[in-house]
Amino acid sequence: MNFELTTVQHHWRDLAHDFAQQAIRPRAAQLDRDSMVPYDILAQMAELGFMGMTLPEAYGGRGGDFVGYCLALEEISRADTGVAITMEAHISLGCAPLAVYGSAEQKERFLAPCASGKRLWAFGLTEEQAGTDAGGTQTTAELRGEQWVINGAKKWITNGGTEITAGVTVMCRTGTRPNGKPELTAIIVPQDTAGYTRGPAYDKLGWRSSDQRPLHFADCAVPQQHLLGERGRGFAQFLSTLDAGRVAVGALAVGLAQACLDEALARAKTRQQFGKSIGEFQAIQFKLADMAMEIELARLMVLKAAWMRDTGLPYSKEASMAKVFASEAAKRAADQAMQIWGGEGFMNESAVARYWRQVKINEIGEGTSEINRQIIGRMLLAEG
Ligand SMILES: Cc1cc2nc3c(=O)[nH]c(=O)nc-3n(C[C@H](O)[C@H](O)[C@H](O)COP(=O)(O)OP(=O)(O)OC[C@H]3O[C@@H](n4cnc5c(N)ncnc54)[C@H](O)[C@@H]3O)c2cc1C
Repeated sequence: MNFELTTVQHHWRDLAHDFAQQAIRPRAAQLDRDSMVPYDILAQMAELGFMGMTLPEAYGGRGGDFVGYCLALEEISRADTGVAITMEAHISLGCAPLAVYGSAEQKERFLAPCASGKRLWAFGLTEEQAGTDAGGTQTTAELRGEQWVINGAKKWITNGGTEITAGVTVMCRTGTRPNGKPELTAIIVPQDTAGYTRGPAYDKLGWRSSDQRPLHFADCAVPQQHLLGERGRGFAQFLSTLDAGRVAVGALAVGLAQACLDEALARAKTRQQFGKSIGEFQAIQFKLADMAMEIELARLMVLKAAWMRDTGLPYSKEASMAKVFASEAAKRAADQAMQIWGGEGFMNESAVARYWRQVKINEIGEGTSEINRQIIGRMLLAEG
């Protein structure tokens, strides 16, 4: 077993660390307060190659591996997890399905402007009645002549309405199977298509420097060639997309947990009570030790799942395990960081208060902890 990173992986991690600490972290509190998507930061990230890390070089991406991508996501999330989800949703949810299932023509037209990160792409699955139960999709796409005509609405779609979003892949019901289950198909909708509109951005507890909106489709017609992959394979495509997404969300959680430990350590060294720094009390040392151990374990789980993906091994179970453990460890880390900061941590201007608000979403987005535990349990039973 070899835990050493390659030179390229080191490069991405160090580049992400330095950029995130210098250009993102000092602005994170303001971005959170103002609910601002930082377009200048995203442009710099595109320039440095982060926004296309795992996407094919032939279309302007960097062709990197998943381990390097997770290392970079962790560092960016450590500085601002909202910026990290913009990158993650763009690469893992938006562009990766275009890269994997798109035709040469679709890749040229839709992936190429996005793989460098100059433009963003979104993935629209969730609806009012289709959250965890994604099979409950109500949005329809009907083939009329040579066009797919889409009607329905999506909810909470990340990068759905930024100034640089080029389009969205929408999960649609294109029929009913003989067994009564819906036939789900992914369809590409460019941003300027008639009949496609976006609602206002949501006011959220966390990820406030990222963009989430409702999407509306009213007789929105796109050419037949905008079908992504195969008709009726949308559900299978989305399950595979989410496996990778879960590992990446795990990396976001590890980065946020690390930021909590960074803050906790700084406070433990400087806060004086009873004539000494609180870090000298064993109660505080135990909290720091628990945080560090859990972060180390979560990081290893994320990187192992990423390595399995890079190696071509099945990794669905490990992806779910990494996401559940990392998101829950991050929540515990945020809680302990605030405890170490005491009343000062409860003040809205403190970083740990921001982390405490932001951390929860990791247990919900891209599959809740409950559904991931069910996936793990089912796979264990199938193996046994
Ligand atoms: C900020 C944000 C960004 C998002 N970005 C995107 C995006 O880019 N694209 C996209 O398509 N979606 C996106 N989503 C949607 C996200 O993936 C869903 O919120 C998530 O899948 C859970 O669905 P839900 O919120 O409707 O919860 P529900 O499905 O209503 O679940 C509520 C509770 O019931 C539990 N539950 C449900 N079914 C079961 C079951 N069978 N067994 C046990 N427990 C169950 C859940 O675990 C949860 O605890 C985003 C959401 C948020 C909040």
